[in-house]
Amino acid sequence: MPTALSLSLLGLLSIPEARAEWIFREQAIMGTRCAVEFWSERPAEADSLANAAFDEMRRIDRLMSTYKPDSELSQLNARAANKPQVLSLELFGLIRDSLAYSRLSDGAFDVTYASVGYLYDFPSQRRPNTAAIRRALPGIDYRHLRLDEKRHSIFFERKGMRVDLGGIAKGYAVDRAMAVLKRGGITRAMVNAGGDTLIAGDRFGKPWVVGIRDPNERDKVALRLPLTDTAISTSGDYERYFDEGGTRYHHIIDPRTGDSARLLRSATVLAPTAMQTDGLSTAVFVMGAERGLAMINRLDGVDAVVVTPQGKVLYSRGLTPPGAGP
Ligand code: AMP
Ligand code: MG
Repeated sequence: MPTALSLSLLGLLSIPEARAEWIFREQAIMGTRCAVEFWSERPAEADSLANAAFDEMRRIDRLMSTYKPDSELSQLNARAANKPQVLSLELFGLIRDSLAYSRLSDGAFDVTYASVGYLYDFPSQRRPNTAAIRRALPGIDYRHLRLDEKRHSIFFERKGMRVDLGGIAKGYAVDRAMAVLKRGGITRAMVNAGGDTLIAGDRFGKPWVVGIRDPNERDKVALRLPLTDTAISTSGDYERYFDEGGTRYHHIIDPRTGDSARLLRSATVLAPTAMQTDGLSTAVFVMGAERGLAMINRLDGVDAVVVTPQGKVLYSRGLTPPGAGP
């Protein structure tokens, strides 16, 4: 005969336990598909944790969107050529940090690309003509952003300057969203926003697998990389573009010419944070295989894979198989 105590124990044991599981959620934010995937020991709380991560991405988008006229960045662009604008520490810090990528890439990454970049409208297939580019080109030069560290203000030293953080803000948002998950106790996770991904931990002894898309075919994967504890970003000429007379006009602008960069089809970078990989993948895309991979090879803990217009896949030193040459 079971005792009363053992009966109640049996009762307790039969209460269905919420079992740990992999959680996957996605939402459209920052004009792209954003996803979080993580191992949750408390699935009942998984939705609120995923939503907190998405809310953080939405908050950053509100701060840095140039599509929203009331965003802090839009306000900066509207006023900073007249007088210095005091910014939140967060926006000031992000612009200041983006200058490091400009210096590193000798100006290939430059958030003031937008001085010309805003003249392109990819959905409507509109682009500036040569004269319009020539007029706006002097506005591209990160060295004419005057930063005041004490007041965290920024002044545009040239009329017509504009800043756009599209080349780095998604990576920053991914890093911040991962921080939200980690504060919620998560140790195995992937956060993704369009071409920018951050991976924490592994999948219980197995790596995460991230695919790099074939530049010519939306649904074809050119390369699969097994990864743990890293960020990875891909910049490509197939994200926002239109073709005209056999030439592709797309969203990554060469600051020297004001025209779309055409030395590569895609550039993928691996590094510890998504902000690093986001900034560097855009930079490598503009710099091309030779200069881009040379820059990556000078950096510790950073690697890259590029696809050339001829379809050749080239790797940085850390990824080149022994004996395969550069
Ligand atoms: P990504 O997909 O990270 O390479 O970012 C592309 C986005 O970066 C574009 O949509 C622009 O918002 C921005 N961008 C374009 N050209 C540049 C550039 N030369 N330097 C910095 N940001 C850029
Ligand atoms: Mg980028």
